[in-house]
Amino acid sequence: MYPPKFDYYRANSVDEAVSLLQEHNGAKLIAGGHSLLPLMKLRLADPGALIDIGRIASLQGISHDDETSRIGALTVHAAVERDSQLPRVLTEAAGWIGDPQVRNRGTVGGNVAHADPASDLPTVFMALGAIFEMAGPGGSRQVDADDFCTGLFMTDLNPDELLTTVVIPRAKNGVGSAYAKMFNPASRYAMIGAAAVLSVEGGACREAHVAVGGLTPKATRARSVESALEGQQLSEGLIKEAAAQIQNDLGDDLIGDIHASVEYRRQVVPTFVQQALEKAWQRAG
Ligand SMILES: Cc1cc2nc3c(=O)[nH]c(=O)nc-3n(C[C@H](O)[C@H](O)[C@H](O)COP(=O)(O)OP(=O)(O)OC[C@H]3O[C@@H](n4cnc5c(N)ncnc54)[C@H](O)[C@@H]3O)c2cc1C
Repeated sequence: MYPPKFDYYRANSVDEAVSLLQEHNGAKLIAGGHSLLPLMKLRLADPGALIDIGRIASLQGISHDDETSRIGALTVHAAVERDSQLPRVLTEAAGWIGDPQVRNRGTVGGNVAHADPASDLPTVFMALGAIFEMAGPGGSRQVDADDFCTGLFMTDLNPDELLTTVVIPRAKNGVGSAYAKMFNPASRYAMIGAAAVLSVEGGACREAHVAVGGLTPKATRARSVESALEGQQLSEGLIKEAAAQIQNDLGDDLIGDIHASVEYRRQVVPTFVQQALEKAWQRAG
């Protein structure tokens, strides 16, 4: 299958990418190409011009300081999976993305900017309280992970902006995190993804950040689950009860398909939330 015709530009810096986006109305950035090219071949996207950001050195790689980890938008999933300084919820989710080819070519920036409801990373970044840094004609700006995805395949990015970095807090003692996933049997995309980050002190949950994706049009923060946990002494029973609260956070607009109906996903989602919470609790030590 061939994509529609397009003009090709290669950007060598973030500034050049922003200028090219301004010059070419309707142009699309291309990073790993794993989502954009299939869409073009299926004629679901016809951007006219592609701006290749794949060689911009400043968008590559992961760095850490005492407080934060900074993940460049062009970092591939395999590099995230291998970085033992990143929180487990993230390395675990990155290691479960697609297959080795996808993990060595697909980028963190492309994954979240595409805002596929079945993607794993928007859910994980929401639970981690990540901040997304974006560059545009007016300079750079930041947005919280909770506000980055605005709907099905929609984000807060303007057409002349690119995502440059995802910033996450460093894992601390007493904090455990985990991801649980119901895999699409063909693509391995998430039919349900549950991410949990628990801060535990003296056996009690000090703070809980929980998010689910795959079955909602965009990643969803599980506030009811969080409030059922915070301030409580953790036990298997409490976690099971808290996970059941996810039904209050999902809303009515759920996704179903030939692999799993809306009703089925709604029925089993608490089990995945429970699994993520139990593993996060264990890992919090
Ligand atoms: C067979 C298969 C299985 C997969 N399985 C999974 C899975 O299990 N879980 C999962 O989460 N994902 C999965 N993916 C998605 C994959 O992991 C990639 O993350 C995803 O395809 C997008 O990354 P990319 O670098 O290829 O982006 P591209 O295809 O290059 O771009 C995607 C979109 O993002 C935009 N974009 C790219 N980079 C930026 C940027 N820096 N700033 C602004 N916009 C940008 C592009 O303009 C385009 O609109 C799968 C993909 C395939 C093909």
